[in-house]
Amino acid sequence: MKTRLKLLGLLAFLSLSSASLLNAQNSTNPPLRITRGGVDTIYSANHIVLGVTSPNAKVTVNGEGVKVYKTGSFGWQGNLNIGDNELRISSIVDGKISTKILNIYRSTAPARRPVREEPKYELIDTTFIVETLEGAYFNYGDGTDRLGGAKVSFLDEGIPLKVVQEYANLYKVQVSQNRYYHIPKSYVEPSDKEIKLVNSGNWRLTGGEDRDRLTISLGAHLPYVVRQELDPNAIIVDIFGARCNSNWLTQKEPFGIVDYIDLEQVEYDVLRVKIVLKSRSWGTRISYDRGGNLSIVMKHAPAPTLEGMTIGVDAGHGGPRSNGAISISGLKEKDLNLDMAYLLKKELENRGAKVVLSRAKDVDVPMDERKKCFIDADADIVVSIHCNAGGSPFAVMGASTYYKWIHNRDLALAVLKRIKELDGVGDFGLVGNFNFSLNAPIEFPNILVETQFLSNLPDEERIADPAFRKAMMIKVVDGIEDYLKLQE
Ligand SMILES: [Zn+2]
Repeated sequence: MKTRLKLLGLLAFLSLSSASLLNAQNSTNPPLRITRGGVDTIYSANHIVLGVTSPNAKVTVNGEGVKVYKTGSFGWQGNLNIGDNELRISSIVDGKISTKILNIYRSTAPARRPVREEPKYELIDTTFIVETLEGAYFNYGDGTDRLGGAKVSFLDEGIPLKVVQEYANLYKVQVSQNRYYHIPKSYVEPSDKEIKLVNSGNWRLTGGEDRDRLTISLGAHLPYVVRQELDPNAIIVDIFGARCNSNWLTQKEPFGIVDYIDLEQVEYDVLRVKIVLKSRSWGTRISYDRGGNLSIVMKHAPAPTLEGMTIGVDAGHGGPRSNGAISISGLKEKDLNLDMAYLLKKELENRGAKVVLSRAKDVDVPMDERKKCFIDADADIVVSIHCNAGGSPFAVMGASTYYKWIHNRDLALAVLKRIKELDGVGDFGLVGNFNFSLNAPIEFPNILVETQFLSNLPDEERIADPAFRKAMMIKVVDGIEDYLKLQE
């Protein structure tokens, strides 16, 4: 068996060598590389070929001219016949020609598409206590996608939780009589703490120099979830295992961002804290002290101008293991992102803002550290810069912006509107409730900008152009300023 494999390997090596001999080009012939579509067999008529050559080359596919982009990328799409097909791809520069021939068989057999199976796991009933570690968060259920299941919100560390089921890498926990969430096993540790049902105590709201602080006396570290609402702008915190005995809500002016606070016992053991704000949230931090007093600290709205603001800029990916997407001609997303982060920094600084970068060079920085860097800098707004990829190189294109929390929607929309003003830029859409790690924090307003599709021919040509990247980052700053005007 081993010998046979070796022989097959040798044959494969020989055939590769002869193929490259056939395609040998002397130094004056244009480079020509096929990056997609060089397959033996296809199962439907439509076929796509992508390749890279000199930007000044003329490319033909079976004699038909195709557009060569400034990156040297080109693409062809057409229907192939049942049976054998030959695609002759030629690139010509100054009369010098390079040719690749693709022999593709179109089968009438049904395509063998990989079947996407739902993950299988065994649910095990159990009962024990764990407590949260730094960075812990709840998921709604066992759903998952590329970025993990839908998150509810983050939790402080040291909160005991009752595990009722375990499966895969998650625990299902019961936080009140009727409410359950899911939490990654990696964010909890075994605990000998007790799960308590407590009577809530007094509340105290105080306005400070740049933050308002609401403290709720609970006497225990109870789990909670947080959400934002509009009309009116509000932060809602549900505390589990608490019954209302808060008969004294002290409020000491001046309040910077809080309009008023209120409470509601929504279920027998779920106490809802309602904080109505005068504007969109500018950052909320929730934590316990040792005595079980829950603090909700809300940042005041800054003056609605970039002058004096601190903006966090995150260049996606980085380092040897996280290139992000690779474009048709071979550009790496991590390099484009870093370049745009610096262009964005420059434009923000031109308009008076201070900028904090989560990475300043080609290194990978874990998501928790990126988040911490922006919290430590007390960033007023955070923008993460990425490039998109996927779908047809001819059809799927455009810019898009992303948010999770509803208070960040206007910011994401304002930035997208400005970006779309650029010539040729398509609209991939505004995306809400997005599960990206840097969209999840409530400690600062944040958005993700997916600038262009590296997998799309015209998008790639645009984003490869430094002048376009600069123009796009100026539009991002224009969008932030539009958002600030909305807050006036
Ligand atoms: Zn990315």
